[in-house]
Amino acid sequence: MKSNTRQFNDIKTLVRKNILNMKPYASARDEFKGEAEIFLDANENPFSSPYNRYPDPLQWKVKEKLAIIKDVKPEQIFLGNGSDEAIDLVIRAFCEPNDDAILITEPTYGMYAVCAAVNAVKVEKILLTPEFDIDLDAFSASDSKAKVIFLCSPNNPTGNLLSYNKIIEVLNRFDGLVVIDEAYIDFSNSRSFVPELTKYPNLIVLQTFSKAWGLAGLRLGMCFASPEIIQVLNKIKYPYNINSVTQKLALEALNNEQQKNAWVKDLVEQRTRMAMALRKLSITEQVYPSAANFLLVRLKEAFQTYQYLMKKGIIVRDRSNVVLCNGCLRITIGTPQENTQLLDALHNLAAK
Ligand SMILES: *Cc1c(COP(=O)(O)O)cnc(C)c1O
Repeated sequence: MKSNTRQFNDIKTLVRKNILNMKPYASARDEFKGEAEIFLDANENPFSSPYNRYPDPLQWKVKEKLAIIKDVKPEQIFLGNGSDEAIDLVIRAFCEPNDDAILITEPTYGMYAVCAAVNAVKVEKILLTPEFDIDLDAFSASDSKAKVIFLCSPNNPTGNLLSYNKIIEVLNRFDGLVVIDEAYIDFSNSRSFVPELTKYPNLIVLQTFSKAWGLAGLRLGMCFASPEIIQVLNKIKYPYNINSVTQKLALEALNNEQQKNAWVKDLVEQRTRMAMALRKLSITEQVYPSAANFLLVRLKEAFQTYQYLMKKGIIVRDRSNVVLCNGCLRITIGTPQENTQLLDALHNLAAK
C-alpha cells in the first residue's frame, strides 16, 4: 500500500477511460419509463404470457424496498445476477487489462481472482494472520499498485469476521476502492459496513440473497456504494440483467424478512451445537470460530474423512489444500436432522 497516501477524491480518476467515455445502450424501457396503455416500443410479443414483457432494467421496486431495510437510497444499490456479477463489473469498470491489479487477502473466496484472471487483471496476494485476520504490517510493507482491494467478512472459507478497526484502517489508508464482501453478515453479530458508505466514498459493500435469504437458485446479489459508483456499474451491465421472476420473488422475500431472521436464528443455534459436538470428536484437531453458516474444521485425517463422508452420501467441502487451511474441511450448517446425520457418521468413523 502506498505510504504517501493519495487521498481518494473523484471516482472519475479511477474508472477506465473507455468506460468513462462510452455511451451506454439505451433500452426501450430506459427511454420511456412511465405508465401507458399500449406498449409498441420493445418488439415484445403482445399476446399475454406472464413473461411477455421485458423486466424493469433498474429493478426500482426491489431497490425501494431494500433501501428501506438497509437504510440507504435506492440510487446506492446495484443488483446483479449473483454477487459474482458485481465482482466482475467492479473489476471490469476500474481495472485496465494487462496493467492494473486487485489485492486480495488469502485464504478467501475464489471468485475475486477468477474474475481478475478473466479480465487480464493482476492479483496481488497478502496472507491473513494465523488467526485469519488482516495483517496490517503486510499491507503497509507491500508496494501495492492495486486499484481495488477485496475483503471478505465474515470470510469464506475461514468463517471469521475480519476485525472492524483494521478494515477501517484499510479504508483510511487506501486510495483505491475497497470492496467488503458481506455474503455471510446476517449470521454474525457484527455491524455491516453499509452505514459507513456516508463516510467512505471509496467503499463498496456486497451482500447476497444466496445465503441467509435462502434464494441461491434465483441468482441475485446486492451491491451498495455511492450513487457515482452505482452509475458506473449500471452503465456497463447487461440492460435486463435481473429477470422478472427474480424481481418478483425477491420483493416477496423482502416483504417477509421475519422468515429470513427465523432461519438465521435456527442456523446460528445449530452452528453452536455443531461446533461443540465437533470439538468433542477424537478425530478433530480444531474447530475455528465462525460468524457464518459454516464451520472450518481441522481434522487429523481431512481427506480420508472427506471421502468417508462422501461414501455415506454427505458432501462437505475439502479445503485441505488451501493456504493456512491445511487439513481442514468446510462444513455448511444444515437442518437439525442433516447435522445429526453428519455427527452420527463422524462418531462412527471416530469409533473405528
Ligand atoms: C456465497 C458467496 C457469495 C454469493 O455469491 P452469489 O453470486 O451472490 O451467489 C459471495 N461471496 C462470498 C464470499 C460467498 O461465499
